[in-house]
Amino acid sequence: MSLLQELRSVVGEQWVITTEERRLYSLDGFTVAGRDPEAVVLPENEEEAVKVVKTLLMRGEPFVVRGTGTSLSGASIPINGEVVVSMSRLNRVLSLEGMEITVGPGIANIMVTKNAPPDVFYAPDPSSYSVSSIGGNVSHDSGGIHVVKYGPTFNHVVGLRVMLTNGEVIDVGGRSVMDDAGIFVGAEGTLGVVLRARLRLTPRPATTLTLMGTFDSLRDAGQAVINTYQRGVVPAAMEMMDRNSIEAVERSKFKTGYPRAEAIILVELDGYGAQVEEEIRRTEAAFNEAGGRVITARSQEEADKLWRGRKGAFPAMGAVSPAYLTLDNNILITKLPEVLEQISKISERYSVKVANVFHAGDGNLHPLVPYDPQDPENLRRALHAAREIAKVAVESGGVPSGEHGIGVEKIGFMGFYYSEEDLEAMRRVKKVFDRSRILNKCKMLRLEGCEPVGQLRTLWEGD
Ligand SMILES: Cc1cc2nc3c(=O)[nH]c(=O)nc-3n(C[C@H](O)[C@H](O)[C@H](O)COP(=O)(O)OP(=O)(O)OC[C@H]3O[C@@H](n4cnc5c(N)ncnc54)[C@H](O)[C@@H]3O)c2cc1C
Repeated sequence: MSLLQELRSVVGEQWVITTEERRLYSLDGFTVAGRDPEAVVLPENEEEAVKVVKTLLMRGEPFVVRGTGTSLSGASIPINGEVVVSMSRLNRVLSLEGMEITVGPGIANIMVTKNAPPDVFYAPDPSSYSVSSIGGNVSHDSGGIHVVKYGPTFNHVVGLRVMLTNGEVIDVGGRSVMDDAGIFVGAEGTLGVVLRARLRLTPRPATTLTLMGTFDSLRDAGQAVINTYQRGVVPAAMEMMDRNSIEAVERSKFKTGYPRAEAIILVELDGYGAQVEEEIRRTEAAFNEAGGRVITARSQEEADKLWRGRKGAFPAMGAVSPAYLTLDNNILITKLPEVLEQISKISERYSVKVANVFHAGDGNLHPLVPYDPQDPENLRRALHAAREIAKVAVESGGVPSGEHGIGVEKIGFMGFYYSEEDLEAMRRVKKVFDRSRILNKCKMLRLEGCEPVGQLRTLWEGD
């Protein structure tokens, strides 16, 4: 039996795609496409997924596991045309017990909270939460606006069921609070296949309030973030947008009525009433001290309106440019003012109009670098600017990725942060889990035979 026949015998004829449509799976949210996959297989349940993966393992057939393909770092593209195993049909809630919910990896993030009792919620909320899958969130250790208070996905994974490359299915984590499934969180599908996830739910806060600060300079806005922490406030969310991103939103269908300013900061505070009132007072003082003006939303409607623009800020970039790179570096909050200034200088040097819209509360920068895909020179400048911004961020004491993962995008940035010994240790870990390198080839680490092509060369090597 051929590989395709065997896969079809497991999942049924219609769930193995070998027609033109498979091309869609050579792309994710990153700029660079992979090669068309040999086939795309969509198992319906855990049993089928195990059989599909066993078939591929037995034949030594390299494959990429995929959630919903929203990765911004190219983590889910088949670089060499590998088979893609899409987990999107494993999208059911398997059990709900106390403060824990167990789900298939293909379920969309938003559906976890929707399936939870009304007084609890699933805290990690990447802006892609209406589509991105829990398997993808786990594999990228995804964040979101509430990371600043509740932590990234890692803090909400109780346990995982994982299939290893020796064909074994294991349950990891979950036996006590000290027992975690950590190594598979953030592994980008390079160490095992996540078959189910046991997730921690969080009590809903009694009160939630939003305020917005407006600033005449990015430096002032960066200082306001520092001041807020110095006054003892831990916001539930603290997001910054610069003039370019405000303008993009105001020109798009996400128009919110934001003021004309060099920067705005949106803050959400949650908890019990009196505590939130006190935090509002302290945040206002912190912002005023940095030269900011503050308005507080008086109703949920007003708060939703203020957040509408921020939540639509990525797609709003489409109003000013046909394409853009989404960078993702995590830096120390104390370095915000100076790193933002450096980004502005890099943007001038390469004549690219960088828009900053990001999770300021945890120092997770998202410089958006617009480019014209029809203009190779313009794209080249954007890629050079991206590489330089990543370098500046790491040199300021930051790390290569805050939440979007390494994928193929940041392989060339790993050396800015890790030593050769560190990278060798990671290669050894990869070898322990995946000796014959069958899982998600050429992602996260530069391994033998993984040479950058085209635009990746610019990102990896600065060529
Ligand atoms: C508009 C937009 C906004 C975004 N906002 C945010 C944000 O605020 N915060 C944030 O962190 N990210 C954000 N992202 C990035 C992206 O949505 C996240 O990285 C998300 O977790 C990816 O989920 P996915 O299901 O699309 O995974 P995919 O892109 O399909 O896969 C991502 C990685 O996970 C692996 N993987 C997927 N499923 C499994 C599995 N079952 N077992 C093993 N490996 C698996 C893949 O191999 C790949 O390496 C955004 C993306 C977009 C397009």
